[in-house]
This record gives sequence, structure tokens and C-alpha cells, in this order.
Amino acid sequence: RAKADGKNGYQFFTNELNESVSRRSNLSMALRKGLGRGEFTVHYQPQIQLESETVIGMEALVRWQHPKLGMISPGEFIPIAEETGSIHRLGEFVLNEACRQNKAWQDAGIPPFRVAVNISAIQFAQKDLPEVVSRALDASGLEAEYLELELTESVIQSADRAIDTMHELVALGVHLSIDDFGTGYSSLSYLKLFPIDTLKIDQYFTKNIESDEKDAALVKTIIRMAHELDLNVIAEGVETENQVAFLKAESCNQAQGYFYNRPLPAEEIEVFFQQFKKASSS
Ligand code: C2E
Ligand code: MG
Ligand code: MG
Ligand code: MG
Repeated sequence: RAKADGKNGYQFFTNELNESVSRRSNLSMALRKGLGRGEFTVHYQPQIQLESETVIGMEALVRWQHPKLGMISPGEFIPIAEETGSIHRLGEFVLNEACRQNKAWQDAGIPPFRVAVNISAIQFAQKDLPEVVSRALDASGLEAEYLELELTESVIQSADRAIDTMHELVALGVHLSIDDFGTGYSSLSYLKLFPIDTLKIDQYFTKNIESDEKDAALVKTIIRMAHELDLNVIAEGVETENQVAFLKAESCNQAQGYFYNRPLPAEEIEVFFQQFKKASSS
């Protein structure tokens, strides 16, 4: 088929493929090096309790500032880190850093909240994840209740072991949530089996609340279902006042998104707190 497109078409195709293959292999090497060189940082995005308009958590999101290639998005490098195994070191870095930072905020007198760390399915399948988590808590001195782990539906691939691992994590005292809820292909029956306490509605649904009646219906249904199951529910990707109004009317518990804040470097979180305090008391 490629040949039928003519020589140029074929050439174009292979060049493009080669470029993406070589960017991938460059990035996978650069990832390993960058981990040792401090190129990775963690940004934090506030999670807001809708009723009280207070901050109840921060999601930790890894950032990679490559000296030559600039800012590379986690959407690009996380899959590479997963394929090459770097995700274990990277994930442990984020976990340690998020715990250390949250403890530092508490020590600075900021009202305590949870920090939510994304755990890749590859990391989750690793046998010693509970030890890794427990070490991060010990090293930082953060109490387990102030740590939440975000899992995606993809961890369900081997459901029996997944449930065992979740119970080991919950036994440490940490909280578990399901990220990007509604976009996976798994059956809903796991919701009653998993020891989770929060569903995060995928931003794709939130984005379409105003423009697509069916997405709005799905959001309402997820919120109701979560509450029926005694789960907390948070909407991701909230960008507009109308979305906030809709979510409040539907009794969604929490929201997170650019409407409130973009993910911020740790130093800016303290500034954010001062501003947020002012805004909510005025
Ligand atoms: P996620 O966990 O679902 O994180 C939410 C993503 O949505 C973040 O993108 C965040 O910056 C972005 N976001 C937040 N509010 C809004 C909004 O109002 N509008 C829009 N359009 N986007 C918003 P980011 O930081 O680029 O991360 C993308 C994904 O990469 C994450 O999706 C997560 O799956 C993965 N990721 C990020 N950090 C880590 C990490 O430390 N470990 C692992 N395993 N994965 C991570
Ligand atoms: Mg997440
Ligand atoms: Mg998400
Ligand atoms: Mg996502």
C-alpha cells in the first residue's frame, strides 16, 4: 500500500516514522539521565470543596524541563517511562517529593489537606508498591491520611491482585481514588469491590457539560451513582463558571481545573493560599 502511494508518499511516511522513533529513543535516554540531574519537578493543582469553597487537596503533577528540548508534557513522557521502566524511579521521586512538600506546608501552618499522587498501572503492578509508599511516608513524616493515590481503571487488568494491593495500601492509611473515571472499558462491578473513596470524573465529560446534553446526563449519573455507593466525587477540568454552577446544582462534592487554578510550582501554592483566603473572606 505504501508503494502504491508513490515514491514520495512512501518516503514521507518512513521519515515521519523514523523521526518519532528517534524522538522516543532520545527521550527514553534523556529521561534516565534527567532523573539523576534534577530536571523533574512537581507542580500542584488545588482541589476545591464546592459547598464550602475551601481547598481540600492538591494533585501532584510531574513536570520535565529538559535543558535543550524545553518543557515536555507528561502525556508524552509518561508512556515512554512506562515502556522503558523509568516509571519506577520517576514515580518514587514524585511520591517522595509530594509527601515531603505536603509535610512542609503543614509545618508552615497551612491548614492540612491531602496530596493526590498519580500511580501508573505499571507502578501499581510492581510488588513492592506498598513498601515504596510506606517509605515515602516514613521519610517525610507525613501522616498517611494526607496522602491519596490516583489509580486509573487500567489497574483492573488483573483484578484479584489489584484488590489485594489496594487493601495493603488502605491498611497503611492512605486514600485511593479512580482517575479519569468513565473513559476506561472496565465493568462497573469493580466499584463495589475496590476499597476506594473517590471517583474523579474525566475532564472530557466536564468539558462538554454545556454543549452536549448527553455528556451532561452522564456527569449527573456519575455523581448520583457515586453518592449511592457512598463515594466522594470530583470533577476534573473545570474551566467555567457555568460548569461550577452545574456541578453545584448536582451536588458534586469537589472540583479541580483552570477555573480555580492551573497546576502551580510549590512556591506559588503559599501565595495562592493568601489570595484564596482573601477572596473567600471578602
Ligand atoms: P490526570 O491525572 O488526569 O491529570 C489531569 C490533567 O489535566 C493534568 O495534565 C492537568 O494539568 C490538566 N488539567 C487540569 N485542569 C485542567 C483544565 O481545567 N482544563 C484542561 N484542559 N486541563 C486541565 P498534565 O499535568 O499534562 O498531566 C497529564 C496526565 O499525565 C495526567 O492526567 C496523568 O495521567 C499523567 N501524569 C502527570 N503526572 C504524573 C505522575 O507524577 N505520575 C504518573 N504516573 N502520571 C502522571
Ligand atoms: Mg490524576
Ligand atoms: Mg484525570
Ligand atoms: Mg488523564
